[in-house]
Amino acid sequence: MRLVDLQPVGVDLALKWDDDVEHFVPLKAVRRACPCASCAGETDVMGNVAKGPKAAFTEASFQIKHLQPVGSYAVQIFWKDGHGTGLYSHEYLRGIGERNNQ
Ligand SMILES: [Zn+2]
Repeated sequence: MRLVDLQPVGVDLALKWDDDVEHFVPLKAVRRACPCASCAGETDVMGNVAKGPKAAFTEASFQIKHLQPVGSYAVQIFWKDGHGTGLYSHEYLRGIGERNNQ
């Protein structure tokens, strides 16, 4: 399973896969699923999840400024509110797509 294409379309992120599946995922769901350490939390050796301060989202938080492919396995998404540390692996995006497909 490979990601063939992704692009923001209105309020959705369109994902196209090489098995002819297409997903339209609300950008809000993509942002809320941000896998970076400050959004998703980092698990320490004791199994505690440390999270940064709860993010206050604005309209700009759900708009994509820039998509940066990382190797052949992931995409880094830069949001208009300045957040851009989330590295979305294709596998992770596929999971988001299957859970949130419209
Ligand atoms: Zn994040």
